[in-house]
Amino acid sequence: MISRRKTRQVKVGNVLIGGGAPVTVQSMTSGYTHDIDNCVREINKLAAAGADIVRVAVPERKDTEALPEIIKQVSVPIVADVHFHFQRALEAIAAGVSKIRLNPGNINDRKQVEMVIDACRERSLPIRVGVNEGSIVERRDKQKRRRELGAVFGDNRHGRLLAIMISKLEEYLDIFYNRNFYDIVISAKSIDPLLVIDAYSEISRRFDHPLHLGVTHAGPRETGTIRSVAPLGTLLASGVGDTIRISYASDPVYEVQDGLELLYVLGLRQRRGAELIACPTCGRIQVDLFTLVQQVNRKLKQEITLPMKVAVMGCVVNGPGECEGADVAIFAGDKRGIIYVQGEKVANVPEDRILDTLLEHCQAFEEKVRAGKARLGEKVVDIIPPDPTGEPGSGYAKITAEKTTGASGGIALPVVNK
Ligand code: SF4
Repeated sequence: MISRRKTRQVKVGNVLIGGGAPVTVQSMTSGYTHDIDNCVREINKLAAAGADIVRVAVPERKDTEALPEIIKQVSVPIVADVHFHFQRALEAIAAGVSKIRLNPGNINDRKQVEMVIDACRERSLPIRVGVNEGSIVERRDKQKRRRELGAVFGDNRHGRLLAIMISKLEEYLDIFYNRNFYDIVISAKSIDPLLVIDAYSEISRRFDHPLHLGVTHAGPRETGTIRSVAPLGTLLASGVGDTIRISYASDPVYEVQDGLELLYVLGLRQRRGAELIACPTCGRIQVDLFTLVQQVNRKLKQEITLPMKVAVMGCVVNGPGECEGADVAIFAGDKRGIIYVQGEKVANVPEDRILDTLLEHCQAFEEKVRAGKARLGEKVVDIIPPDPTGEPGSGYAKITAEKTTGASGGIALPVVNK
């Protein structure tokens, strides 16, 4: 179990960040906020996918004017993403958002930042303070900008960027502390996963504010997943991070799905719906397992709400050991599948019946759990490899015998009676 770093806690609408609250998942709409119907549709889609908090951009006055109607039609807290125009922040606060995201470096006048801070305090709204890699280099003072850019592109870029991020953060936080404002969430995003790890680790040692983890400009999902999950997983596993946003150049629903999955596998959130375990397949496979896994995944998402473990394994050789702990498991054989529910063999069906039969058994098991007649994870799957031609257990002897004698290259392929 991961021991989480202790932080202050902030309240974003009805969602808590930090202070021991479960790690939350955020995303951001990709359409125009002033297009109210589309914006509401996007927010509700993200909420249905599991987003706890959704951020919207408010670059123009017509965007903040749309906020009251949007907020009325959605159930998750809305964060206004403000760059350059402090006025947009004040309008968003008046419109009823639950949090403001602000990079003080993007606002010209310190007085204007202070006005936003005071308005947030009046309504008990937290502010996310960002020192993202793209926004930390000085913009106004040309000499300072040249110096900082020189540092960014010089030797030891990583170390210098990290130093700039930390010193800018300290500079920004002073503005907030000087106004006795502490409802702060910090982000320090970069495109470089190693810088992300170092920046957040360092910040977590220096400040007790909750941290919003993210990798900026991570790219399309195909490559962005690894770029994001490597640093976020590393930080979360070490107890650092209180809310996360995975950013893809793609449908933001994937950001939510992948963010939640990351939290699920790390045991930081209670899973909603079934967990699918599947083998990668190998030369022993005798059914179209890739298609089957996709179909099972889709069906489980649609039909199962309990966090039961379902395993789809390509054969009986390594399958039983690899799917240990599953509530429901199917082992494929020669164009057939053998289904187990908590260790008990319940069906042996041809390939074209596997999907429906597996789903029926998952649903029946879910009903049993709901009726109090079974408990999730109660029985560790202790399946002795089945011999598809005979009774459970006989396959084990066969495999062992073949390993000992060296027959079939030491591995028994299941042969199934049709
Ligand atoms: S379960 Fe069987 S088919 Fe799947 S990877 Fe393991 S040995 Fe190969």
